[in-house]
Amino acid sequence: MPGSIRGEVGDPLAPVVTRKTATLLNCPSCGSLQVAQVLGDNGGISYVCTTCGHSWS
Ligand SMILES: [Zn+2]
Repeated sequence: MPGSIRGEVGDPLAPVVTRKTATLLNCPSCGSLQVAQVLGDNGGISYVCTTCGHSWS
């Protein structure tokens, strides 16, 4: 469901970055490649595993 990822990011340019990043990263907790890149509160970049919900930066 691509709509769920776009809804979390909320930026029309972000889905491209998210899709590219998802192929380069894997979750350090469960090893899944289903990783979304999101903006943190301080403007930094964080990553969220869409499989287990683990987040890191
Ligand atoms: Zn995970």
